[in-house]
Amino acid sequence: MTEQPSDTSRAWVEIDLGALRRNGAAIARHAGAPLLPMVKADAYGLGAVAAVRALEPHEPWGYGVATVDEGRALRDAGSTRPILVFTPLLPADFRAAHAARLTPVLGDPTAIARWSETGAPWHLGIDTGMARAGVRWDRVGDVASLLAALPPEGACTHFHSATDAASVRQQRERFATAVAALPIRPRILHAENGAAVEHLEERSALDLVRPGIFLYGVSSGHGARIAPEPVVNVHARVVEVRGIAAGDIVSYDATWRAEGPRRIATLAIGYADGYRRALSNRGVVLLNGVRARVAGLVTMDMTMVDATETDCAPGDVATLVGNAGDDTLTVADVAERAQLSPYELLTGLRARLRRVYREAA
Ligand SMILES: *Cc1c(COP(=O)(O)O)cnc(C)c1O
Repeated sequence: MTEQPSDTSRAWVEIDLGALRRNGAAIARHAGAPLLPMVKADAYGLGAVAAVRALEPHEPWGYGVATVDEGRALRDAGSTRPILVFTPLLPADFRAAHAARLTPVLGDPTAIARWSETGAPWHLGIDTGMARAGVRWDRVGDVASLLAALPPEGACTHFHSATDAASVRQQRERFATAVAALPIRPRILHAENGAAVEHLEERSALDLVRPGIFLYGVSSGHGARIAPEPVVNVHARVVEVRGIAAGDIVSYDATWRAEGPRRIATLAIGYADGYRRALSNRGVVLLNGVRARVAGLVTMDMTMVDATETDCAPGDVATLVGNAGDDTLTVADVAERAQLSPYELLTGLRARLRRVYREAA
Protein backbone atom coordinates (compact mmCIF):
# COMPACT_ATOMS: atom_id res chain seq x y z
CA MET A 1 0.00 0.00 0.00
CA THR A 2 1.28 3.47 -0.84
CA GLU A 3 1.15 5.97 1.95
CA GLN A 4 -0.54 9.31 1.21
CA PRO A 5 0.83 12.55 2.61
CA SER A 6 -1.56 14.04 5.13
CA ASP A 7 -3.88 16.88 4.11
CA THR A 8 -1.81 19.31 6.13
CA SER A 9 1.67 18.23 5.05
CA ARG A 10 2.18 21.08 2.57
CA ALA A 11 -0.46 23.76 2.06
CA TRP A 12 -4.20 23.70 2.65
CA VAL A 13 -7.42 25.69 3.00
CA GLU A 14 -9.22 25.23 6.27
CA ILE A 15 -12.95 25.87 6.06
CA ASP A 16 -14.98 26.45 9.21
CA LEU A 17 -18.36 24.92 8.40
CA GLY A 18 -19.78 26.01 11.75
CA ALA A 19 -19.05 29.65 10.89
CA LEU A 20 -20.52 29.15 7.42
CA ARG A 21 -23.70 27.79 8.97
CA ARG A 22 -23.93 30.67 11.47
CA ASN A 23 -23.42 33.16 8.62
CA GLY A 24 -26.39 31.55 6.88
CA ALA A 25 -28.47 31.90 10.03
CA ALA A 26 -27.45 35.54 10.47
CA ILE A 27 -28.33 36.56 6.94
CA ALA A 28 -31.63 34.65 6.90
CA ARG A 29 -32.59 36.30 10.20
CA HIS A 30 -31.71 39.80 8.96
CA ALA A 31 -33.51 39.24 5.63
CA GLY A 32 -36.56 37.64 7.24
CA ALA A 33 -36.73 35.45 4.13
CA PRO A 34 -35.69 31.93 3.16
CA LEU A 35 -32.27 31.43 1.62
CA LEU A 36 -31.25 30.56 -1.89
CA PRO A 37 -27.54 30.19 -1.07
CA MET A 38 -25.28 30.75 -4.06
CA VAL A 39 -22.93 27.78 -4.26
CA LYS A 40 -21.72 28.42 -7.81
CA ALA A 41 -18.06 27.92 -8.69
CA ASP A 42 -17.88 25.13 -6.10
CA ALA A 43 -19.13 27.48 -3.37
CA TYR A 44 -16.60 30.16 -4.33
CA GLY A 45 -13.84 27.58 -4.25
CA LEU A 46 -14.61 26.18 -0.81
CA GLY A 47 -16.52 23.05 -1.86
CA ALA A 48 -20.20 23.13 -2.82
CA VAL A 49 -21.11 19.73 -1.41
CA ALA A 50 -19.65 20.63 1.99
CA ALA A 51 -21.30 24.08 1.92
CA VAL A 52 -24.69 22.53 1.12
CA ARG A 53 -24.28 20.01 3.92
CA ALA A 54 -23.49 22.85 6.34
CA LEU A 55 -26.47 24.94 5.22
CA GLU A 56 -29.09 22.18 5.08
CA PRO A 57 -30.19 22.67 8.71
CA HIS A 58 -31.52 26.12 7.65
CA GLU A 59 -33.80 24.36 5.15
CA PRO A 60 -32.92 26.71 2.29
CA TRP A 61 -35.56 26.99 -0.42
CA GLY A 62 -32.94 25.83 -2.93
CA TYR A 63 -29.42 26.49 -4.17
CA GLY A 64 -27.94 28.65 -6.92
CA VAL A 65 -25.28 27.49 -9.38
CA ALA A 66 -23.85 28.74 -12.67
CA THR A 67 -23.65 25.59 -14.79
CA VAL A 68 -25.39 22.28 -15.46
CA ASP A 69 -22.30 20.40 -14.25
CA GLU A 70 -22.41 22.25 -10.93
CA GLY A 71 -26.09 21.43 -10.52
CA ARG A 72 -25.60 17.80 -11.42
CA ALA A 73 -22.78 17.48 -8.87
CA LEU A 74 -25.21 18.56 -6.14
CA ARG A 75 -27.83 16.06 -7.38
CA ASP A 76 -25.17 13.31 -7.37
CA ALA A 77 -24.42 14.26 -3.76
CA GLY A 78 -28.08 13.73 -2.89
CA SER A 79 -29.50 17.25 -2.86
CA THR A 80 -33.23 17.20 -3.57
CA ARG A 81 -34.07 20.91 -3.29
CA PRO A 82 -34.59 23.17 -6.31
CA ILE A 83 -31.31 24.14 -7.97
CA LEU A 84 -31.36 27.32 -10.03
CA VAL A 85 -28.85 27.79 -12.86
CA PHE A 86 -28.18 31.52 -13.18
CA THR A 87 -25.98 31.67 -16.27
CA PRO A 88 -28.36 31.49 -19.25
CA LEU A 89 -28.47 28.01 -20.75
CA LEU A 90 -28.62 27.46 -24.47
CA PRO A 91 -31.22 24.99 -25.75
CA ALA A 92 -28.41 22.51 -26.44
CA ASP A 93 -28.05 22.11 -22.64
CA PHE A 94 -31.76 21.73 -21.89
CA ARG A 95 -31.85 17.92 -21.98
CA ALA A 96 -29.01 17.64 -19.49
CA ALA A 97 -30.51 20.34 -17.27
CA HIS A 98 -33.94 18.74 -17.33
CA ALA A 99 -32.52 15.27 -16.66
CA ALA A 100 -30.83 16.64 -13.53
CA ARG A 101 -34.07 18.42 -12.48
CA LEU A 102 -32.38 21.83 -12.63
CA THR A 103 -34.34 25.06 -12.85
CA PRO A 104 -32.93 27.48 -15.43
CA VAL A 105 -33.15 31.24 -15.17
CA LEU A 106 -34.03 32.35 -18.68
CA GLY A 107 -34.57 35.64 -20.48
CA ASP A 108 -34.09 34.91 -24.16
CA PRO A 109 -37.39 34.44 -26.03
CA THR A 110 -36.19 31.45 -28.06
CA ALA A 111 -34.84 29.74 -24.96
CA ILE A 112 -38.10 30.39 -23.07
CA ALA A 113 -40.19 28.94 -25.88
CA ARG A 114 -37.99 25.84 -26.08
CA TRP A 115 -37.87 25.27 -22.31
CA SER A 116 -41.68 25.49 -22.16
CA GLU A 117 -41.78 22.19 -24.05
CA THR A 118 -40.25 20.47 -21.00
CA GLY A 119 -43.10 21.53 -18.74
CA ALA A 120 -40.54 21.89 -15.92
CA PRO A 121 -40.15 24.91 -13.61
CA TRP A 122 -38.06 27.89 -14.69
CA HIS A 123 -37.48 31.43 -13.49
CA LEU A 124 -37.62 34.58 -15.58
CA GLY A 125 -34.44 36.64 -15.41
CA ILE A 126 -35.08 40.37 -15.64
CA ASP A 127 -32.23 42.75 -16.49
CA THR A 128 -32.80 45.95 -14.53
CA GLY A 129 -29.57 47.64 -15.51
CA MET A 130 -26.61 45.29 -15.35
CA ALA A 131 -26.88 44.31 -19.04
CA ARG A 132 -25.64 40.80 -18.36
CA ALA A 133 -28.54 38.35 -18.45
CA GLY A 134 -32.32 38.43 -18.59
CA VAL A 135 -34.97 40.29 -20.51
CA ARG A 136 -34.72 44.09 -20.16
CA TRP A 137 -37.16 45.48 -17.60
CA ASP A 138 -38.75 47.74 -20.23
CA ARG A 139 -39.08 44.92 -22.78
CA VAL A 140 -40.92 42.23 -20.81
CA GLY A 141 -43.82 42.81 -23.19
CA ASP A 142 -41.70 41.01 -25.80
CA VAL A 143 -41.88 37.75 -23.85
CA ALA A 144 -45.32 38.16 -22.22
CA SER A 145 -47.12 36.04 -24.81
CA LEU A 146 -44.55 33.23 -24.37
CA LEU A 147 -45.22 33.02 -20.65
CA ALA A 148 -48.77 31.70 -21.11
CA ALA A 149 -47.52 28.29 -22.34
CA LEU A 150 -45.59 27.66 -19.12
CA PRO A 151 -45.70 30.53 -16.60
CA PRO A 152 -42.41 30.95 -14.72
CA GLU A 153 -42.35 29.75 -11.13
CA GLY A 154 -40.23 32.76 -10.23
CA ALA A 155 -38.70 35.98 -11.48
CA CYS A 156 -35.49 37.65 -10.41
CA THR A 157 -33.03 40.42 -11.00
CA HIS A 158 -29.49 41.20 -9.83
CA PHE A 159 -28.06 44.45 -8.47
CA HIS A 160 -24.93 45.80 -10.12
CA SER A 161 -24.03 48.12 -7.18
CA ALA A 162 -25.59 46.51 -4.14
CA THR A 163 -23.98 48.87 -1.63
CA ASP A 164 -25.29 52.00 -3.39
CA ALA A 165 -28.77 52.82 -2.07
CA ALA A 166 -29.84 55.02 -4.98
CA SER A 167 -28.80 52.49 -7.58
CA VAL A 168 -30.51 49.64 -5.71
CA ARG A 169 -33.68 51.73 -5.42
CA GLN A 170 -33.71 52.34 -9.17
CA GLN A 171 -33.23 48.65 -9.93
CA ARG A 172 -35.96 47.66 -7.43
CA GLU A 173 -38.37 50.07 -9.13
CA ARG A 174 -37.52 48.71 -12.55
CA PHE A 175 -38.02 45.15 -11.28
CA ALA A 176 -41.41 46.04 -9.80
CA THR A 177 -42.44 47.70 -13.06
CA ALA A 178 -41.41 44.66 -15.05
CA VAL A 179 -43.16 42.20 -12.72
CA ALA A 180 -46.35 44.29 -12.87
CA ALA A 181 -46.24 44.07 -16.68
CA LEU A 182 -46.24 40.24 -16.64
CA PRO A 183 -49.54 38.47 -17.38
CA ILE A 184 -49.31 36.60 -14.04
CA ARG A 185 -47.21 37.47 -10.99
CA PRO A 186 -44.68 34.65 -10.57
CA ARG A 187 -45.00 32.99 -7.16
CA ILE A 188 -41.37 33.57 -6.11
CA LEU A 189 -39.56 36.89 -6.54
CA HIS A 190 -35.91 37.37 -5.60
CA ALA A 191 -33.22 39.98 -6.06
CA GLU A 192 -30.93 40.54 -3.07
CA ASN A 193 -27.40 39.19 -3.04
CA GLY A 194 -25.46 39.15 0.23
CA ALA A 195 -24.39 42.80 0.13
CA ALA A 196 -27.96 43.94 -0.57
CA VAL A 197 -29.20 41.99 2.48
CA GLU A 198 -26.38 43.41 4.62
CA HIS A 199 -27.71 46.88 3.80
CA LEU A 200 -31.42 46.15 4.29
CA GLU A 201 -32.99 48.41 6.91
CA GLU A 202 -35.97 46.13 7.28
CA ARG A 203 -36.87 42.66 6.18
CA SER A 204 -36.76 41.82 2.49
CA ALA A 205 -39.93 42.61 0.57
CA LEU A 206 -39.26 39.63 -1.70
CA ASP A 207 -39.59 35.88 -1.24
CA LEU A 208 -35.98 34.64 -1.21
CA VAL A 209 -32.50 36.10 -0.77
CA ARG A 210 -29.39 34.94 -2.63
CA PRO A 211 -26.30 35.43 -0.47
CA GLY A 212 -22.96 34.22 -1.71
CA ILE A 213 -19.72 35.63 -0.36
CA PHE A 214 -21.26 36.62 2.99
CA LEU A 215 -21.75 32.92 3.73
CA TYR A 216 -18.06 32.39 3.04
CA GLY A 217 -17.05 35.03 5.54
CA VAL A 218 -16.56 38.22 3.51
CA SER A 219 -18.44 41.43 4.25
CA SER A 220 -19.21 44.16 1.73
CA GLY A 221 -18.17 46.67 4.43
CA HIS A 222 -19.50 50.23 3.88
CA GLY A 223 -22.26 50.56 6.46
CA ALA A 224 -23.36 46.93 6.51
CA ARG A 225 -25.85 46.11 9.30
CA ILE A 226 -24.61 42.59 9.88
CA ALA A 227 -21.13 41.07 9.68
CA PRO A 228 -20.15 37.51 8.82
CA GLU A 229 -17.77 35.36 10.84
CA PRO A 230 -14.57 34.43 9.01
CA VAL A 231 -14.72 31.01 7.36
CA VAL A 232 -11.47 30.59 5.43
CA ASN A 233 -7.89 30.03 6.58
CA VAL A 234 -5.07 29.34 4.14
CA HIS A 235 -1.98 27.69 5.61
CA ALA A 236 1.37 26.53 4.27
CA ARG A 237 4.32 24.78 5.88
CA VAL A 238 7.79 26.21 6.12
CA VAL A 239 9.92 23.69 4.21
CA GLU A 240 13.37 25.32 4.40
CA VAL A 241 15.01 28.19 6.25
CA ARG A 242 18.28 29.81 5.20
CA GLY A 243 20.48 32.68 6.27
CA ILE A 244 21.47 35.13 3.55
CA ALA A 245 23.96 37.98 3.52
CA ALA A 246 23.61 41.66 2.73
CA GLY A 247 23.28 42.08 -1.05
CA ASP A 248 21.93 38.58 -1.70
CA ILE A 249 18.80 38.42 -3.82
CA VAL A 250 15.67 36.27 -3.49
CA SER A 251 13.61 34.60 -6.24
CA TYR A 252 13.23 35.10 -10.00
CA ASP A 253 14.32 38.33 -11.61
CA ALA A 254 16.14 39.42 -8.44
CA THR A 255 13.41 41.87 -7.40
CA TRP A 256 14.29 41.62 -3.68
CA ARG A 257 17.74 42.26 -2.23
CA ALA A 258 18.76 41.83 1.41
CA GLU A 259 19.82 45.07 3.07
CA GLY A 260 21.59 43.12 5.78
CA PRO A 261 21.81 39.56 7.06
CA ARG A 262 18.38 37.95 6.81
CA ARG A 263 16.61 34.64 7.47
CA ILE A 264 14.49 33.55 4.56
CA ALA A 265 11.78 30.92 5.02
CA THR A 266 10.47 29.01 2.02
CA LEU A 267 6.75 28.18 2.16
CA ALA A 268 5.31 25.26 0.20
CA ILE A 269 2.70 27.31 -1.63
CA GLY A 270 2.80 29.26 -4.88
CA TYR A 271 0.67 30.76 -7.59
CA ALA A 272 -0.28 27.30 -8.85
CA ASP A 273 -2.10 26.93 -5.52
CA GLY A 274 -3.80 30.30 -5.91
CA TYR A 275 -1.35 32.30 -3.79
CA ARG A 276 -1.28 34.96 -6.42
CA ARG A 277 1.85 36.28 -8.10
CA ALA A 278 0.47 39.77 -7.48
CA LEU A 279 1.43 39.21 -3.82
CA SER A 280 5.12 39.22 -4.78
CA ASN A 281 6.94 41.75 -2.56
CA ARG A 282 3.51 42.89 -1.23
CA GLY A 283 1.99 40.00 0.69
CA VAL A 284 2.42 39.31 4.37
CA VAL A 285 1.95 36.06 6.25
CA LEU A 286 1.53 35.27 9.94
CA LEU A 287 4.44 33.16 11.10
CA ASN A 288 5.30 32.25 14.69
CA GLY A 289 3.58 35.32 16.07
CA VAL A 290 4.90 37.95 13.66
CA ARG A 291 3.96 39.38 10.27
CA ALA A 292 6.56 38.22 7.74
CA ARG A 293 6.69 39.92 4.35
CA VAL A 294 6.83 38.09 1.05
CA ALA A 295 10.38 38.47 -0.31
CA GLY A 296 10.71 38.50 -4.08
CA LEU A 297 8.41 36.98 -6.68
CA VAL A 298 5.91 34.31 -5.69
CA THR A 299 6.87 31.23 -7.72
CA MET A 300 4.66 28.44 -9.01
CA ASP A 301 5.11 26.12 -6.03
CA MET A 302 7.00 28.09 -3.38
CA THR A 303 6.95 31.52 -1.78
CA MET A 304 9.78 33.03 0.24
CA VAL A 305 9.20 35.31 3.23
CA ASP A 306 11.53 37.44 5.32
CA ALA A 307 11.46 35.49 8.58
CA THR A 308 14.31 37.39 10.25
CA GLU A 309 12.10 38.37 13.19
CA THR A 310 11.00 34.78 13.81
CA ASP A 311 12.63 31.64 15.12
CA CYS A 312 10.75 29.52 12.56
CA ALA A 313 11.95 26.11 11.46
CA PRO A 314 10.92 23.63 8.77
CA GLY A 315 7.53 22.14 9.60
CA ASP A 316 6.14 25.33 11.14
CA VAL A 317 2.81 26.53 9.78
CA ALA A 318 2.35 29.96 8.20
CA THR A 319 -1.09 31.55 7.91
CA LEU A 320 -1.57 33.32 4.58
CA VAL A 321 -5.27 34.07 5.08
CA GLY A 322 -7.09 33.97 8.39
CA ASN A 323 -6.29 34.12 12.03
CA ALA A 324 -3.25 33.11 14.06
CA GLY A 325 -2.81 34.09 17.68
CA ASP A 326 -4.31 37.57 18.01
CA ASP A 327 -3.57 38.68 14.45
CA THR A 328 -5.76 38.23 11.38
CA LEU A 329 -5.34 38.58 7.64
CA THR A 330 -8.85 38.77 6.26
CA VAL A 331 -9.76 37.61 2.76
CA ALA A 332 -10.45 41.27 1.97
CA ASP A 333 -7.01 42.39 3.30
CA VAL A 334 -5.13 39.83 1.24
CA ALA A 335 -7.23 40.52 -1.86
CA GLU A 336 -6.54 44.23 -1.54
CA ARG A 337 -2.79 43.66 -1.29
CA ALA A 338 -3.04 41.68 -4.53
CA GLN A 339 -5.33 44.30 -6.10
CA LEU A 340 -7.98 41.62 -6.56
CA SER A 341 -11.58 41.37 -5.47
CA PRO A 342 -12.20 38.95 -2.58
CA TYR A 343 -14.28 36.90 -5.04
CA GLU A 344 -11.24 36.40 -7.30
CA LEU A 345 -9.01 35.50 -4.39
CA LEU A 346 -11.40 32.80 -3.11
CA THR A 347 -12.35 31.36 -6.49
CA GLY A 348 -8.66 31.40 -7.45
CA LEU A 349 -7.71 28.92 -4.69
CA ARG A 350 -6.76 25.95 -6.80
CA ALA A 351 -7.38 22.22 -6.49
CA ARG A 352 -3.83 21.43 -5.36
CA LEU A 353 -4.63 23.07 -2.02
CA ARG A 354 -6.35 20.43 0.06
CA ARG A 355 -9.69 21.47 1.52
CA VAL A 356 -9.82 20.67 5.23
CA TYR A 357 -13.23 21.04 6.86
CA ARG A 358 -13.58 21.99 10.47
CA GLU A 359 -16.84 21.74 12.39
CA ALA A 360 -16.28 24.14 15.27
CA ALA A 361 -18.56 23.78 18.26
C1 LIG B 1 -23.13 35.42 -7.49
C2 LIG B 1 -24.54 35.85 -7.46
C3 LIG B 1 -25.17 36.15 -6.23
C4 LIG B 1 -24.42 36.20 -4.91
O1 LIG B 1 -23.61 37.34 -4.90
P1 LIG B 1 -22.74 37.73 -3.61
O2 LIG B 1 -22.21 39.06 -3.97
O3 LIG B 1 -21.67 36.72 -3.49
O4 LIG B 1 -23.66 37.74 -2.44
C5 LIG B 1 -26.51 36.41 -6.25
N1 LIG B 1 -27.22 36.41 -7.41
C6 LIG B 1 -26.63 36.15 -8.60
C7 LIG B 1 -27.46 36.17 -9.83
C8 LIG B 1 -25.28 35.88 -8.67
O5 LIG B 1 -24.72 35.64 -9.85
